[in-house]
Amino acid sequence: MAEPHIADSGLMDRRIIDLTLTFSSEITPVPGHPRATIAPWHLHEVHARSNSLLFFSIHTGTHVDAPYHFHREGATIDQVPLDRLIRPAVLCDLRPRARSRQPVTVADLEASGLAGRSLEGTIPVLFSGWAARAWNQPNLYAEHPYLDPAAAEWLARQRISALGLDFAVDPGEPYPCHLVLLGAGIPLIENLVNLDQIGQQDFTLIALPHKVHGGNGGQARVAAML
Ligand SMILES: [Zn+2]
Repeated sequence: MAEPHIADSGLMDRRIIDLTLTFSSEITPVPGHPRATIAPWHLHEVHARSNSLLFFSIHTGTHVDAPYHFHREGATIDQVPLDRLIRPAVLCDLRPRARSRQPVTVADLEASGLAGRSLEGTIPVLFSGWAARAWNQPNLYAEHPYLDPAAAEWLARQRISALGLDFAVDPGEPYPCHLVLLGAGIPLIENLVNLDQIGQQDFTLIALPHKVHGGNGGQARVAAML
């Protein structure tokens, strides 16, 4: 069945860009986590309907990390208000500067559009192109650019609402940027794609994570509204 035509949404000239990886077992899991499985429960051929079961780590593909992920006293994903995740966003195009296995520094952020502007209450979105290239590759969590802990502190000091990005913030243990940002109550919106389609620095970001009771994070559908 083709998608039926529907009337205009009433959001007038707003253009919506889906920043979400399509969820499948092809997505490279976090090292040490299981690969996602999607199992059929009912099949059209047998049951005249389709249902399915999912088994996956919350940190697979596009998702939001809640402060509780690294801090026992931090907010769980069902406690993170949506007001933190639907906000003015600022695209930071790091493509000319981000390098495999190298830290993204404060100087890189400033040189990529974040110098001299207030980020308070916004969602900066760090765009390296990494997740779009490596989402199904074995090096997704091995050769990615990462965030300099000083840059994480710089962002936290500016009281940002959340941080979006398309590469893992830390290269691994002891996860200094997760500790700093989640410790400041700043959720992380990870593994974004289609950031090349935004084409402007300022937009509205909408991230809606699965509301898991007591969850350390949640799978999310994330969109840019231009
Ligand atoms: Zn995560």
